[in-house]
Amino acid sequence: MTDEPIFEPGAWGLTAQQAALGEQARALAAERFAPRAAEYDREATFPTENYRDLAESGLLAICIPEEEGGLGADLKTYMLTAAEIGRYCGATALTFNMHVCSCLWTGPLLDQLELAPDVRAQHHAMRKLHYRRIIDEGKVYAQPFSEGGAAAAGFKAFGTTALKVEGGWRITGKKIFASLAGHADYYGALCTALQSPDDEPSRRNTMYIAVPSDAEGVSVVGDWDPLGMRGTVSRTLLFEDVFVPDEAQLMPQGVYAESARHWPHMFMTLTPTYMGIAQACYDFTVAYLRGEVPGTPPVKRRMYPTKQIAVAQMRVMLEQTKALWFQAVSEARPDPSKDSLMRAWAAQHTVMENANELAQLAIRTCGGQSMLKTLPLERMYRDSRCGSLMLPWTAELTLDMLGKGALYEPGETDDD
Ligand SMILES: Cc1cc2nc3c(=O)[nH]c(=O)nc-3n(C[C@H](O)[C@H](O)[C@H](O)COP(=O)(O)OP(=O)(O)OC[C@H]3O[C@@H](n4cnc5c(N)ncnc54)[C@H](O)[C@@H]3O)c2cc1C
Repeated sequence: MTDEPIFEPGAWGLTAQQAALGEQARALAAERFAPRAAEYDREATFPTENYRDLAESGLLAICIPEEEGGLGADLKTYMLTAAEIGRYCGATALTFNMHVCSCLWTGPLLDQLELAPDVRAQHHAMRKLHYRRIIDEGKVYAQPFSEGGAAAAGFKAFGTTALKVEGGWRITGKKIFASLAGHADYYGALCTALQSPDDEPSRRNTMYIAVPSDAEGVSVVGDWDPLGMRGTVSRTLLFEDVFVPDEAQLMPQGVYAESARHWPHMFMTLTPTYMGIAQACYDFTVAYLRGEVPGTPPVKRRMYPTKQIAVAQMRVMLEQTKALWFQAVSEARPDPSKDSLMRAWAAQHTVMENANELAQLAIRTCGGQSMLKTLPLERMYRDSRCGSLMLPWTAELTLDMLGKGALYEPGETDDD
């Protein structure tokens, strides 16, 4: 039996492109990614085979604009498509997000931002090289931002620096939790541009630059043996005086800081993975209680009122999660109103926390046999816990921003 779409196209008013890409992603992930997911999780290995399938399917180019040869998906279309992948393999969906952001941010998001004509022309010339690599050669990009300090949360300049030199930049620094480490072809790193070694680092000079994985001075260190999302292989990356040519830039200098300021919904792109996991936990519970999970005895448990109540509660939580997320994603645009931004934070918090809440309810409701490692539920339980930890919009920081946003208007203080 094939699964129904998470968002039924007619009921949610999806475009033909959104419906078709969702269908394509769901078929690919259900048929190919789901059967491979347990092994990537057990061994904490990267889903290389899934990436071959993604390249063949054309989905690696999902957010490359059509005029550049890609599929031309916008933010919402990407989010809906990626959620379908998250249902079947969380680690693939999460790493796919890191790759896709290199195109989404440089493509549809920047194309909707006001830029000076010369900066726009410079950017369009720059991104072509990266898009050609993805479309023609199936190259994969990672997105290592985190450094273990306050930079990834948006409070400080990145400690990784790019020093301007003749013909390019010399990159030095360390990135932690770099998903796809050792597997991506390019690391789309955020770093602080310096014109001279004595420059004061500033967030305004944040640079988004693609470092080839085989460049001299790039290394991957440490191991990766986490609770969940084990297939992301998010090891530590070291850049030791790595030379990259000028053409490695994914955006002109200074543009990243502007896009993060004007397009805050860009930080919601980590949620579709967990929206997919939330749906998968509910689907598993229904199938299990009906005695229909493949590989388990056909024992029905649906006749017990406690099970019916638990599933009803799960359904309520799933519908609330879907509705808020869909609304927040639908209203994503540059320079959102304060109300819209607060809804995005609420949606981010809700998806990340509810995915885990639904996973734990699913285990409690289905019972002991459901959490054996022969079934996907315990993996989804572990994977779902990781969503709330993703900077810059962690579950804690979204509450922090919501609380302050609700009680203070910009510039207001209590010093009087
Ligand atoms: C599976 C997985 C994959 C990942 N992949 C990537 C990736 O590909 N690229 C990447 O860049 N990162 C990635 N990350 C890293 C992630 O975004 C975070 O950077 C990482 O989890 C931070 O861990 P930390 O312990 O250093 O957080 P800390 O900075 O120590 O923060 C701990 C918690 O404190 C809170 N906090 C942080 N700063 C503040 C503050 N200023 N004020 C108040 N509260 C604060 C937050 O809630 C945060 O969760 C990944 C993480 C996971 C779990």
